Amino acid sequence: MIVFGLEAVQLLALFDLDRTLIDLDAGFLRRAEEFAEQRRLGPEDVAWLVALDRDVHPHRDIYFARVRERYKLAAPVKELLAACRRRMPYLVQCYPAVPTGLAELRTRGWRVGVTTNGMPDSQLGKLRRTGLADVIDGHAVSEAEGIRKPEVDLFRIAAQRCGGKGGWMIGDNLIADIQGAQMVGPRTIWINREPGQAKSIMPTMRSPTSSRQWPSCDQYTGKPDHAGFVHIFNTYANILREVHLLDFHMTDQ
Ligand SMILES: [Mg+2]
Repeated sequence: MIVFGLEAVQLLALFDLDRTLIDLDAGFLRRAEEFAEQRRLGPEDVAWLVALDRDVHPHRDIYFARVRERYKLAAPVKELLAACRRRMPYLVQCYPAVPTGLAELRTRGWRVGVTTNGMPDSQLGKLRRTGLADVIDGHAVSEAEGIRKPEVDLFRIAAQRCGGKGGWMIGDNLIADIQGAQMVGPRTIWINREPGQAKSIMPTMRSPTSSRQWPSCDQYTGKPDHAGFVHIFNTYANILREVHLLDFHMTDQ
């Protein structure tokens, strides 16, 4: 059994995929623009599609049910979902500097993995098309394993495939990524993209985005006593700075 712990020799960094390493929102905007172009719709329809995605994310079944109704589409929701999954790998890109940042982590001796909820056709396609597959040691995709985050076994599977122990989980979803990982022990970095998420869950660190109203990570009471702490902090902080997020905030109390 993989055991996460501060004493682990091999350092491991597990990342979520969508909206952590991959700019899903930009990809979805491209998808909405394609949809509008194919149907000769205007920019107001693109705006409607993007707003709907933001409102119902990550529930794509609800999204397509509403799109189907508004535009009187004949195809069932299941078919629309499958078509979107097939197309998205061609529309998404990593946030700038992510592939080089992950490669740098590996050159520093870290094992790097991805743990993601989603269907294998879509998620594996994104890994391959973005080049991430070439700079990670392993991955675990929920619908391929029959387990979804925050269930802890998905983190364990990814860790086992990467061959690493200890370390960190980095993701944008407080429940799936942060709370789930905390149940098996790794320290966590929350990529804060949705201010509405539960505030009761405490990541080790958080990266505020444009939401200045969020407090900095002032509730972490542990100490950065892990040997690799500074490495991953600096490396991933640099990646995030390059994608125009605001500075990480860390409190060593
Ligand atoms: Mg995510």
